[in-house]
Amino acid sequence: MTDSNLTSATLNFDPDTLREKYRIERDKRLRPDGSAQYQSIDGEFSNYVDDPYVRGVPTRAPLEDDIDVVIIGGGFGGMISAARLLEAGIEHIRIIEKGGDFGGTWYWNRYPGAACDTESYIYLPLCEELNFVPKEKYTHAPEILQHCQNIAQHYDLYSRACLQTQVSGMSWNDSKKRWLIETDRGDAMHARFVIMSNGPLNRPKLPGIPGITDFKGHTFHTSRWDYHYTGGSSEGNLDRLADKRVAIIGTGATAVQCIPHLGAAAKSLHVFQRTPSSIDIRANRPTDSAWAKSLPEGWQKARMENFNALTSGRIVEEDLVMDGWTEIIRNLISMANYRGKDIDPREIPKLMEIADFQKMEQIRARVDAIVEDPKTAEALKPYYRQFCKRPCFHDSYLQTFNRPNVTLVDTQGQGVTSMSAHGVTANGQTFEVDCVIFATGFEVGTAYTRRAGYDLQGRGGLRLSDKWAKGLKTLHGLHSRGFPNVFFMSTAQAGFTTNFPHAMDESAHQMQYIIGRCLNEDIAAIEPSQAAEDAWVQEIIGLSRISESFQAECTPGYYNNEGQPNPTSTQNSAYGKGPIPFFQRMAAWRDEGSMAGLERS
Ligand code: NDP
Repeated sequence: MTDSNLTSATLNFDPDTLREKYRIERDKRLRPDGSAQYQSIDGEFSNYVDDPYVRGVPTRAPLEDDIDVVIIGGGFGGMISAARLLEAGIEHIRIIEKGGDFGGTWYWNRYPGAACDTESYIYLPLCEELNFVPKEKYTHAPEILQHCQNIAQHYDLYSRACLQTQVSGMSWNDSKKRWLIETDRGDAMHARFVIMSNGPLNRPKLPGIPGITDFKGHTFHTSRWDYHYTGGSSEGNLDRLADKRVAIIGTGATAVQCIPHLGAAAKSLHVFQRTPSSIDIRANRPTDSAWAKSLPEGWQKARMENFNALTSGRIVEEDLVMDGWTEIIRNLISMANYRGKDIDPREIPKLMEIADFQKMEQIRARVDAIVEDPKTAEALKPYYRQFCKRPCFHDSYLQTFNRPNVTLVDTQGQGVTSMSAHGVTANGQTFEVDCVIFATGFEVGTAYTRRAGYDLQGRGGLRLSDKWAKGLKTLHGLHSRGFPNVFFMSTAQAGFTTNFPHAMDESAHQMQYIIGRCLNEDIAAIEPSQAAEDAWVQEIIGLSRISESFQAECTPGYYNNEGQPNPTSTQNSAYGKGPIPFFQRMAAWRDEGSMAGLERS
């Protein structure tokens, strides 16, 4: 393929015109305050993160006992870790969870329409262990939460859980080789090992706009949906909104799922948009029960690995999942890989860009085909490369803008500018409403310990917030020197895959192996050697696939630190060779058997 094949005549679009349009749209949205634009939820805003799903806090005596493994976080990561430890006979474990039940993201996010975007057969953990196949290809939040509760029952996690408990601090006692874990319930428990599974998107944020506290109507954040006010459930039917004028701020992946339900129920709905999401076909379908019954042993792992291979850019014979995610990647690599073997490698970025333009043209054409009002349709078209923002998939979001009670307030990239007693202001116009729903997402890129909600004081009083102030320092993303026996469940400096639970399970196997060895061999403490940690950090930096120029050209968002250069992004990135080599490397590390890079005491 040569440049002559990539002209506007052969492509039906002009790449230069699109490039320029993308640049103009990005520039409109760049702002000097970057991530600092947001209002964090604390102080007078703390009520936005109150738990709406529990009534009161049951009393219990503070705990001061000694536990083998404490897992902080009862979401997917914490549950998978617990399951793998229990399977290895490591039973003296405890899970500390802020919420009133297991589920993590799926405990908190119960907004109407919430559903998984990754195929549920590979996204829901431990399906085979529970002999369970979800009832839809993209199953909805209630079934996911129920599955979490089933996992907790199956592995007897409830008897090992401290629910509605928030860790307030952790410190290492080097002579006792124990962590002291303190909580808001007065606990001062001791643990040999601690698994930190706090979740990457657990701290909601609000727009930092003047007048937000002046508004006299009702407000809430999507991650704490107020069904008492709206009526209905995760399935919709928000009957109490029938006489309400509702505003929703934000049009990210969360808003895309709940807006169809708001549009169907509210007297009026104003959708305040700063940047449109890309909305591809969802094509959900019920699970074929005959197919579910026919699944052979090992099906879930095989399917996860097939998806992971495809989304990592590997060519595999069969695409088992066949969905929007694998299509995205297939399209992106097809031009680069499949169109003959004579492609000059220097051409690949350009071909990938063309494949991206083609996909986004298709997404924009879909808007025109669905949205009746041409002005609204134009405003709903995303002009940026597909992975600048989280791709979305929905079959009734765009249709919602054809409803007479629904108005898109396109803010031309500027966002809502203020709120007052009775309304929301954007584009210099105030819209009077009864209720404002913040679909404004979660903190990303703020300090790890801030998002965790507590700091760790390691050996010699070293604070994790200080050690990681200028970037993460770990071995395998899992251990950090000075913090013995702590395991970080994260994709930073570790394997990243679009299907997070897959990476979590790989980490859980690594932790199962190391903790098992320590308990069996009476190893009191492990931590990475300085040399091993330094080498790993250097390797991560050297392999980083974070393309500064790709990020800089993207429209602002949490993927690119709101459009500002991030000095830590290269160091905090995932293992650059991709998830498959990372998982293989961890397996080889276990097989080798010396626990290379870890110092023992
Ligand atoms: P996002 O951070 O993706 O979206 C926040 C939205 O708020 C953006 O549209 C943003 O606009 C907008 N916004 C912020 N400030 C203003 C303002 N002042 N005025 C107007 N709009 C504003 O949060 P989400 O909760 O939607 O999604 C977070 C992540 O959660 C997703 O990326 C995904 O990883 C995950 N998720 C997964 C789902 C699934 O698997 N099914 C479903 C939902 C979420 P702008 O784009 O211009 O910044």
